[in-house]
Amino acid sequence: MKVVDPKSLQEAVILFADPANCLAYLVPRRWENGVVVCPTCGSTKVTFQEHRLRWQCSTHHPKRQFSVKVGTIFEDSPLGLDKWLPAVWLLTNCKNGVSSWELHRAIDVTQKTAWFMLHRIRMAHQGKNGGKLSGEIEADETFVGGKARNMHANVKARKITGTGGKDKAIVMGILKRGCEVRTKVISNRKRKAVQDEVREHVEAGSEVFTDALKSYEGMTEFQHQVIDHAEKYVDGKVHTNGMENFWSLLKRGLSGTYVSVERSICFDISMNRCFATTIGKT
Ligand SMILES: [Zn+2]
Repeated sequence: MKVVDPKSLQEAVILFADPANCLAYLVPRRWENGVVVCPTCGSTKVTFQEHRLRWQCSTHHPKRQFSVKVGTIFEDSPLGLDKWLPAVWLLTNCKNGVSSWELHRAIDVTQKTAWFMLHRIRMAHQGKNGGKLSGEIEADETFVGGKARNMHANVKARKITGTGGKDKAIVMGILKRGCEVRTKVISNRKRKAVQDEVREHVEAGSEVFTDALKSYEGMTEFQHQVIDHAEKYVDGKVHTNGMENFWSLLKRGLSGTYVSVERSICFDISMNRCFATTIGKT
């Protein structure tokens, strides 16, 4: 069963009132391809216990039974996902921020509880940009912006003054495989701009996978490996498919509006997407 993102708070409240929907929503977002992994030992040999909505790991070790909350920001909270998920929805969809009083009224928890929830969701959001990423990293950039053919003529005349990426925002993405994506609007795709981003977010010594864009050349402090898309898209673990998938998700979220994406909005949306794909990790 595939559960799509709710379009309104009302929809979110109704959808997530059913624990089965919460699971169907979270599992594919938390675990790659929806393959459930034991949070204690990393095994994928787990059995789903339907009546308890939990899994049991086939390996004998402590905490072999786990729910979808284990290992997430929701883990040690007695609040149900029926409260958490609408709260996450609200926070990631309200550009102007959410107060604890608003959340209190919206999902029917006390204002004190709402304050705690907001705090924790924001921490999960911000904590991401704290440390540097390490391990297997993909770096890639993309152009985001309005499609000229969908614009009104007068808008087109104003917005489109060149071809290709000229009037689009360039978004840089850095992904730690299986974990999180960080995105940022950058001013150009030259060497300094892209490499500054990589250096800011990635620990030296990490494996960094990129396409053959020249701007990535010379990152000697990383184990930098290049996949040349003119030849092939995947060479063992050398690929940028994680980023490509992220961009297509992001762009699907943006299509349907002809509005040329203002730089700041683009950033917001990619952050929301980023958040949606990483709520499983703390
Ligand atoms: Zn296990």
